[in-house]
Amino acid sequence: MSPEPLPTTLDVRKAAARGSVISGAVSLSALPRLRDALASGEGSIQAQCAFGRDEENRSIVTVTVSAELMVSCQRCLEPMPLTLASENLLAIVGDDEMAKQLPAALDPWVVEGEQGDLWGLVEDELILGIPVVAYHDTETCKELLDAYRQPPATLETDGDNPFKVLEQLKSGSKQQEN
Ligand SMILES: [Zn+2]
Repeated sequence: MSPEPLPTTLDVRKAAARGSVISGAVSLSALPRLRDALASGEGSIQAQCAFGRDEENRSIVTVTVSAELMVSCQRCLEPMPLTLASENLLAIVGDDEMAKQLPAALDPWVVEGEQGDLWGLVEDELILGIPVVAYHDTETCKELLDAYRQPPATLETDGDNPFKVLEQLKSGSKQQEN
């Protein structure tokens, strides 16, 4: 795909009538909702929007997104790279009412007015594509966890050892009973 930036907005119905295919890069720093779901601002996003009409003469767009992002591993909480690739066919509609009339298999892209927000569309696709939980492969994750645990002796001599606190609480309550 092109290293040039994807246009941020586009006259989507004109693009559908022409069968335009638009591709380019999207800046992660411009997508705050996506950034909130990530471990860091590092990464790259490429997208392609192929416009056209279906057999019912609806304006449609096929959105293809590929991205390299950083998310938090839910086991060791360290950042990990995530590669996302998705393709989705959407029908371009003017409002929510038209969206409801679409067949169930066709997702709506609501564009009020002429200009569709292409970057917002790509952001939505990526937010939907991020897995709810992501893990390192077992070996990488284990190495990171092991690195945290060293040296193991520190925990046992810790003055705030929760087990000791528990013992003190127990003996304290016994004394009160007596
Ligand atoms: Zn991990």
